[in-house]
Amino acid sequence: MFKKNIFSLILLALAIILPGCSSTSARESVNDNKAVTAENQEVRSYPVPVKYSERPVTVLKTPENYKPAPPDKIVISDENIKVIIYAKEFAQGNAGYFEADREDGKISEIRKITYAGENIPFTCTEWGCRGFFAIHPEAKPGKTFFTLVYFDGTSEKKIEGSVNVRDVQYPVSKHLLDLGKFSDKEYTSKPEFKKLIEESAEARRLAFSIVSEDSITNSLSHPRDMHKVTGDYWKKRIYAAHKKKGKKKVKVKGHVSYHRGLDLKGDVGAPVYSMADGKIVIAMKMFYEGNMVAVDHGNQVFTYYMHMDSMAVKVGDTVKAGGLVGRVGATGTSTGPHLHVALSIRGVHVHPLSLLSLPVSR
Ligand SMILES: [Zn+2]
Repeated sequence: MFKKNIFSLILLALAIILPGCSSTSARESVNDNKAVTAENQEVRSYPVPVKYSERPVTVLKTPENYKPAPPDKIVISDENIKVIIYAKEFAQGNAGYFEADREDGKISEIRKITYAGENIPFTCTEWGCRGFFAIHPEAKPGKTFFTLVYFDGTSEKKIEGSVNVRDVQYPVSKHLLDLGKFSDKEYTSKPEFKKLIEESAEARRLAFSIVSEDSITNSLSHPRDMHKVTGDYWKKRIYAAHKKKGKKKVKVKGHVSYHRGLDLKGDVGAPVYSMADGKIVIAMKMFYEGNMVAVDHGNQVFTYYMHMDSMAVKVGDTVKAGGLVGRVGATGTSTGPHLHVALSIRGVHVHPLSLLSLPVSR
């Protein structure tokens, strides 16, 4: 059974009650918005600037046995602007999120935001601006700079702060991972699979190069209705490989790879949910990935779901956080039914569930 995070519900209730102190139009906007369930979350539009403290709170859908950890947080500010930076942990392999409070529109223009020297695309709403970034799983531990450049009406100003990125000891698999027929070089190089392997790679390449507008609202969801990790994120694995020599199966050098997502337990047919609002950019049976659905959340933030038994969406569909995208299965290179879920932020794979600790608003 799915249970709404109680804390989120309390916050949500407060958010509906508290805007009594805000301007009338903002209050009406909140009250008019009846679609406050995670399934049917509308992007609210405010006719007048809204105070940062009155921004919509996060609505989170999680299984009963999963509570996301509260995020690490740092604040950098000057007389005009306050930036709050969050991550589940300021450590390798986490999704990062920031909100810039423009003090009720006093600052007209944020011009550039960077983390670790890389530009972060951001979205501005009536209460301020926000954006997502990735702490690379192999990022150099230690002080990492976050900068924001804005125009105060007269001149360009810059504020800077730093995040202390912690080192993470990732698990290393002690066993060779044997993927059955997928570890057989002869099987995977069969000419009849060549087309599908190429088409799958091309579909991924095209989908993950899409740059679209940020569609994440203040709604997030765990991808399953129960939480049990069966394969850790960024675990180092060595894949077995073999070839046939005459009638004998001989081991050949396998390849090392890092697990770029998380494996979650599920029986065949169990539901798989989109972690945030977005648009379906892949819904395809692939060779290695099996039935795979990818959701574009904008600004090159993607979640994707692999090895599914069936898919409930098609390319071009829009999906809400917590919306069904498919059913757990064991298709592709899967040794048993499970969900492989991944979160990629501009090409960097971070721990997908680190997203759920972020207090996202819109
Ligand atoms: Zn996996």
